[in-house]
Amino acid sequence: MDTFNDLDTLLFHGDLRRRVNVKWESLRAIGLVSRGYNPDEILAFKLLPASWFVPRVRTRLNADLDWACMPKKVVIGAPGHETLHAYYYIHCGVAGYRDVVNGPGMDNAHGFFFTLVAETIEVETGLNLFAGIESPNR
Ligand SMILES: [Zn+2]
Repeated sequence: MDTFNDLDTLLFHGDLRRRVNVKWESLRAIGLVSRGYNPDEILAFKLLPASWFVPRVRTRLNADLDWACMPKKVVIGAPGHETLHAYYYIHCGVAGYRDVVNGPGMDNAHGFFFTLVAETIEVETGLNLFAGIESPNR
């Protein structure tokens, strides 16, 4: 969770503090298989607020994978990717979905502005924000 807080501080000046619930969890346990995802290939996943009883964006880091063998730019980049989704959701009401139009390399979950910001963060930080994300198209 320190990584998430550090990313929030660096990228969003702490704006997401106490607005996102982050924890390690088995992605199999939260039902990704039934949604058509392969939890063996996904590092992190976001769950949007589902009701008044679950009011915050939830970021789940895949506890089933061995993160120690992954490059640091991926280990930090995957939570960074989900942090960006959380920022979009909290401030725009969508999590980066179809924000304008999809172009090359984009998909329904990562529209033009999300991709532009994520790629800018990648250039500025050297992180890899698109490794092990929830979309099968990248
Ligand atoms: Zn994403």
